[in-house]
Amino acid sequence: MHAWVVERPGPVDTGPLRRVVRPLPEPGPGQVRVDVVCCGVCRTDLHLAEGDLPPHHPSVVPGHEVVGRVAACGPGVTRFAVGERVGVAWLGRTDGTCRFCRRGAENLCTAPVFTGWDVDGGYAEACLADERFAYRLPDGVDDERAAPLLCAGIIGYRALRLAAVPPGGRLGIYGFGASAHLTAQVALAQGMRVHVFTRGERNRELARGLGVDSVGLAADHAPEPLDGAVLFAPAGELVPVALWALDRGGTLAVAGIWLSPIPGLDYATQLFEERRLRSVTANTRRDGEEFLRLAERLGVRATTVGYPMDEAPRALADLAHGRFAGAAVLRT
Ligand SMILES: [Zn+2]
Ligand SMILES: [Zn+2]
Repeated sequence: MHAWVVERPGPVDTGPLRRVVRPLPEPGPGQVRVDVVCCGVCRTDLHLAEGDLPPHHPSVVPGHEVVGRVAACGPGVTRFAVGERVGVAWLGRTDGTCRFCRRGAENLCTAPVFTGWDVDGGYAEACLADERFAYRLPDGVDDERAAPLLCAGIIGYRALRLAAVPPGGRLGIYGFGASAHLTAQVALAQGMRVHVFTRGERNRELARGLGVDSVGLAADHAPEPLDGAVLFAPAGELVPVALWALDRGGTLAVAGIWLSPIPGLDYATQLFEERRLRSVTANTRRDGEEFLRLAERLGVRATTVGYPMDEAPRALADLAHGRFAGAAVLRT
């Protein structure tokens, strides 16, 4: 099969991905082999390709928003049958036994296996998945639109929950890419007032089209104090800006896996009065199941830009340079 691998991490325009031919992977116990139909392009793939995230093993195949069909089942597989549609996401496996897994916080597992970082992902014609960590996808959503739900959607949903905005409350969204545009739809459907801060004109248009309450530039003052905010842009310099925009008791959740350095904070105006700053780390399977059900019920729809799988490097470069709004999806 053909696959893309991260050969030499570096700036996206220097070509860190290389196309290789590999044997079809054989599913082991509890694993399924998935014929990839679509794979979403996540900013994490870009961080991996560019070396912001250290590679966990050489020549890994990126991609963790995989929609495909089960092509083969390893010994002991019971949840999925050959031919079924399946989603493969970032949390590929956990040990199930560490102190975090035992208390229901498997997102903090001390020995996690991430798809497209620790094991090969979906920038390929096929990949393997542990069936216990794979998802059934909502019937009403086609393959291309389902792909971004699997990371952008699930992580955004967890970040929204951690931002702890009360019903009818005021939410700030900093940065407006794939994850933010899905999260905004959930927040609006749940009755929040949503204020978006982003610099890209395409992103601003997408936000307006979704009916958010206001759209400002990244460092603009919020039109009203925020009960909670989610920082999606990987820009540490926005942390003080977003904290400053919070009302008393408000929470800023940082959704990304990587963030540029955070400048100094002013305790009195940015943290005192019980403002909170917290990170979001991966997700539990429960987050995933909950979000996929909610996405179907609330009619959350990804805006996607399709690329042939052959053009994965162009998709990553377009993401890096902000050349599209919404989510890029590779199609085999
Ligand atoms: Zn664990
Ligand atoms: Zn992701």
